[in-house]
Amino acid sequence: MSESKLKEAIQNKKMLCPECKKPVEKYEKFVETVASVWDGAGDSGVETEGGKATLVCGNCDWKERTEYWEEYIDE
Ligand SMILES: [Zn+2]
Repeated sequence: MSESKLKEAIQNKKMLCPECKKPVEKYEKFVETVASVWDGAGDSGVETEGGKATLVCGNCDWKERTEYWEEYIDE
C-alpha cells in the first residue's frame, strides 16, 4: 500500500467511487503509516506499512479519509 499504487489506480481509473461507481478523480493529503508489531516471543518484530489518504470522487459528493483505499481499487 504505497502512494505510487494509489496514484496509478486513480490515473488508470481503477479506483471506483462506492456511491456513483465512476472513477475517483483525485486524492488528497496522503500520509504514510508504519506500525511495529511484536509477536510476543520478544525476538522478532514485524513492520507493516500503509498509507492514509482522502479520496475525492469528483463526480458526486463522495469523499472519504481512509487507510483502506485499496478496497476501492477494481482489478
Ligand atoms: Zn462518486
